[in-house]
Amino acid sequence: MIAGAHVSSSGGIYRATERAREIDADALQLFTQSPRAWRPTDHKPEALARFRDDRIKQRIDAVVCHALYLINLASPDPDIWAKSRTALLNTVDVATAIEADAVVVHVGSHLGVGLDAALPRVCEALSDALTGCDGPTWLLLENSAGAGGTIGRSLSELATIVHRLDRPPRLGVCLDSCHLWVSGIDVGDPDTVERLAQEVDTSFGLDRLRCLHVNDALAGLGSNRDRHANLLDGEIGERLSAFLTNDAFAGMPAILETPGAAGKGADAAEVSKLRSLARRNW
Ligand SMILES: [Zn+2]
Ligand SMILES: [Zn+2]
Repeated sequence: MIAGAHVSSSGGIYRATERAREIDADALQLFTQSPRAWRPTDHKPEALARFRDDRIKQRIDAVVCHALYLINLASPDPDIWAKSRTALLNTVDVATAIEADAVVVHVGSHLGVGLDAALPRVCEALSDALTGCDGPTWLLLENSAGAGGTIGRSLSELATIVHRLDRPPRLGVCLDSCHLWVSGIDVGDPDTVERLAQEVDTSFGLDRLRCLHVNDALAGLGSNRDRHANLLDGEIGERLSAFLTNDAFAGMPAILETPGAAGKGADAAEVSKLRSLARRNW
């Protein structure tokens, strides 16, 4: 496991690398622009080049870009869908420019019409984005917390998309421990985690699982409420080590998206808890 955290990229995208190093993270996730606005940040070529240099200097082993929260690749509203598609393409462009390992995206919500009806829109937007992925950069679909019509509430929904696109290279999955938990999967139970790993393998292949989001949950198992808690402070607690110690998930970036003690994002204490949970033997 490569211990990582979501860090701020404000004040120059390259600054994310020093922020990760300050909290002893070996992997980082960042937003390439404000996640709550459509307008992309105009990164100067020098800032992008400096990111690549600083990543080496700060010894960051994995870099993940998280796409905006506004994106809904399943939206039936043509305006929102077009903006979503463009926003994802912008994120992919920045990600490939900084040689990121992946872009993580929430597919979005079908708003009640069902996955089947939304699939053509989802797949068109994703195949567009995949044409922009090159070098080391993959596009990863994140499992959802399962509220409303959000797509990706189960591995089978994610697998449906992967297969519908004909299993393209560079299309993978990111699994979030909090989202799994609130979708009803007990990631604190080693047998359940083992079954999950086997399901990943049979539905789309373990090689497509490229990133973990590691968050405890404020809400209960199966509640569909997406509220991240600091490690050991939520409903999962130290049992989260079952998720972190399964062999199938070894070696990949494990990114914290927890609030940290000050509520400003994962801190050094969170990274240290992550490392110790990942070391525990069952
Ligand atoms: Zn997440
Ligand atoms: Zn979440």
